Amino acid sequence: MTHAGHRPDPPERMRPSTPAANATVFLGMITPAGRVAYVTPQLPAEVALAAAGTDRPVESQYRLAGPCVTSSCGFWTGEHCGLGERLATSYQEAVGPAETELPRCAIRRTCRWFAEQGAAACAACSHVVTDSR
Ligand code: SF4
Repeated sequence: MTHAGHRPDPPERMRPSTPAANATVFLGMITPAGRVAYVTPQLPAEVALAAAGTDRPVESQYRLAGPCVTSSCGFWTGEHCGLGERLATSYQEAVGPAETELPRCAIRRTCRWFAEQGAAACAACSHVVTDSR
């Protein structure tokens, strides 16, 4: 029940590029060409962790997502995700306006980058390999 004057909590946002230690969702696989092949419907991160080869970091094989931690993350500007902003801006500078057809992705409804940057975030996202260092 909501009360007049009481604003509901904002929805929890997902961070679409998350190191394995904090991941909850198996977002996609990195193809040999370095693109993300998104996994739908949503699978838990454990599926990717169990399937990963041990010869290189799991983050270089899979894209994982987890809860956005806002001010606990170095990319948080105080208001939004600076990484999503940077990726979307660079993509548009290099490639031009994002295509309107979005990839099928399991977390769009709660994705931090999409909520703040729109379709340009998704266009850039499909090129991102998480840096696990
Ligand atoms: S940026 Fe777009 S494609 Fe990437 S995880 Fe968010 S909603 Fe999905």
